[in-house]
Amino acid sequence: MAREAAGSGVPRSERVAVLGAGTMGHGIAQVAAMAGYGVTLHDTSPDALARGLERTADNLATGVALGKVTAEARAAALDRVEGASSLKEAVAGAAIVIEAVPESLALKHRVFRDVERAAPTNALLATNTSGLSITEIAVALGRPGRFLGLHFFNPAHLMALVEVVRGRDTEEATVDRALAFVRQLGKEPIVVNDSPGFASSRLGLLLGLEAMRMVEEGVAEPEAIDRAMELGYRHPMGPLRLSDLVGLDVRLGIAEYLQAKLGERFRPPEILRRMVAEGRLGKKTGSGFYRW
Ligand code: NAD
Repeated sequence: MAREAAGSGVPRSERVAVLGAGTMGHGIAQVAAMAGYGVTLHDTSPDALARGLERTADNLATGVALGKVTAEARAAALDRVEGASSLKEAVAGAAIVIEAVPESLALKHRVFRDVERAAPTNALLATNTSGLSITEIAVALGRPGRFLGLHFFNPAHLMALVEVVRGRDTEEATVDRALAFVRQLGKEPIVVNDSPGFASSRLGLLLGLEAMRMVEEGVAEPEAIDRAMELGYRHPMGPLRLSDLVGLDVRLGIAEYLQAKLGERFRPPEILRRMVAEGRLGKKTGSGFYRW
């Protein structure tokens, strides 16, 4: 039987709808199901939806193999997740809607217009955007007070942090409800006011860009720079290895965006532009600051 949450949280017997079953959506669905929520996962692509459900099952099987999840908990979580090919069907009975569709303002506007028409009026609405303005996404909504950012990290089932991003019109009760929900997921929330790059990308990217400039200037080899942060500052992974994992094209895109919004300290180094132009994008192409 589903347990009720304490305080202003959402009762776990209520449903969470996750829109977009890609890299982030399938992981968020898994985390919510493991925390006891009923989850409806929706994607406009039937293939992506099937793959998302499959990846959730695979992740949980890995959890069982590693002894981190019991076979019973895996089976119960999978029982709580269902797929939906229509957005309307996915959000109709939802207490929380989390959008994880691609990073396009126009697309997110379209999705939230549809969500507002079909979701219960008291549902909490959240976007997993990693960089778009929460306030700008909220323009699509007639009632933006119940909307905010819930920025999960990749892979969502393993990463503990969730940035709770307050837009200009987000009501405090919405922030409180989101904080309780994130804690029920077993994650740690931080509250950030809507600003470019939120807290995590802004700080993390700056470190990455400076590490790239150091390679460019011949200060040290990439391994040495990464070890400086790993051993000297206890970062689990150095900024260059992390950049390779994220994808250098992705890092370049965010740097250009933050340069436009926040100024020259985010100017992408030449070495980053050159590596992207050469197709050396990091792990996904087999070569970046490291060979993979
Ligand atoms: P993705 O491309 O892996 O998945 C997006 C999914 O959305 C795809 O399966 C696609 O078919 C589906 N989709 C497209 N249009 C849709 C619609 N109208 N309705 C429903 N589904 C639709 O993308 P992702 O990496 O999971 O990113 C999703 C969001 O999460 C983006 O806003 C991104 O910025 C953010 N984010 C990504 C990461 C990351 O590391 N990948 C981390 C944090 C946040």
